Amino acid sequence: MDTSIEHDVDLAPLSTLGVAARAAHFCAADSAASIREALAWADSNRHPVLIVGGCSNIVFASDYAGLVLKPSIAGREKVGETPAHHLVRVGAGENWHETVAWTLAQGWPGLENLALIPGNVGAAPVQNIGAYGLELTDCFDSLEAIDRDTGETRTLTRADCRFGYRDSIFKHPAGSRLIVLSVTFALPKRWSAHAGYRDVSEELAARSVTSPSPQDIFDAVVAVRQRKLPDPAVLGNVGSFFKNPIVSAAAHAQLQGLHPALVSYPQADGRFKLAAGWLIDQAGWKGRALGRARVHPNQALVLTNTGGASGSEILALAQAIQADVRQRFGVVLEPEPIIIGPALPT
Ligand SMILES: Cc1cc2nc3c(=O)[nH]c(=O)nc-3n(C[C@H](O)[C@H](O)[C@H](O)COP(=O)(O)OP(=O)(O)OC[C@H]3O[C@@H](n4cnc5c(N)ncnc54)[C@H](O)[C@@H]3O)c2cc1C
Repeated sequence: MDTSIEHDVDLAPLSTLGVAARAAHFCAADSAASIREALAWADSNRHPVLIVGGCSNIVFASDYAGLVLKPSIAGREKVGETPAHHLVRVGAGENWHETVAWTLAQGWPGLENLALIPGNVGAAPVQNIGAYGLELTDCFDSLEAIDRDTGETRTLTRADCRFGYRDSIFKHPAGSRLIVLSVTFALPKRWSAHAGYRDVSEELAARSVTSPSPQDIFDAVVAVRQRKLPDPAVLGNVGSFFKNPIVSAAAHAQLQGLHPALVSYPQADGRFKLAAGWLIDQAGWKGRALGRARVHPNQALVLTNTGGASGSEILALAQAIQADVRQRFGVVLEPEPIIIGPALPT
């Protein structure tokens, strides 16, 4: 069991954005017992606690004065099955992409569309990660979490987690005190490909794959992502900086009248999801920089740290984009990452 607490820790190398920030205290806890011990230490010293995984969805716009606690619980195993699914439990500290690759190697496909998303397994349900036509909720069975209010371990089902678009109970007051220890996936015994998303289908066609295997989808997704998204090891970023806004049918019709090329996707409830990247691109921000923060030249949704940018510089760029898109389109862009420090208006 490891509960060693480090002090005055540099967070830049622990995060994908790489902006300068320090944690007053830091602990990588490798078991439920060590997480409880670290929480008790923080409580007795009256320190606030921030739970992190790979810090690939966090913008540190200031130092963190409390304890940054990283659940580093390892382990992957099949724990059961139903007539339709393999049930596979994975520790919160396991790397996401390596876990996707491992499930394929075991012959339990289902997660391949989510390949190469940075971060750890414990954060995947928080964000209900999604890409290329699949979301975590599609392959989710349950999870175990420590409730910081009671100290007890709870099991949460899919319904308990209240998954939504990049949303879950963990982002709301009812779940914000839960720390994910492990996630159990329900991986289908009768697999079928999710290859309808255009980038993936074009990549498969370019590879002359007509009847894709899970490995074909995995390889296609990895290739598309490597081509389209900046590698955080080379250029600091947190992936998509804004959520795709969802607007009413009436607002959509009005916008489409003004902008016939508007990119949008009808939703089951009659509303429309707009492509935030298209809005930002149309507003002329693709490739533009403010100080050392820059909109990626190939992907308008990604804000990058070109070297030495502060979290505040990244937020200043985000705010300028928000204001401009709001003025031009009347649409509010909501940030996707968690922001530590001054909040952006939503
Ligand atoms: C290049 C790039 C591409 C990306 N592409 C995608 C994509 O395609 N789809 C997508 O959905 N996301 C994407 N992301 C965002 C990010 O990778 C995901 O949100 C990921 O799940 C974050 O994992 P993490 O371990 O880094 O979490 P962190 O950034 O460390 O934390 C994220 C949130 O989860 C909470 N958290 C972390 N661990 C736990 C835990 N054990 N218990 C409770 N709460 C916890 C944190 O408090 C925080 O609120 C991308 C990011 C980058 C940099």
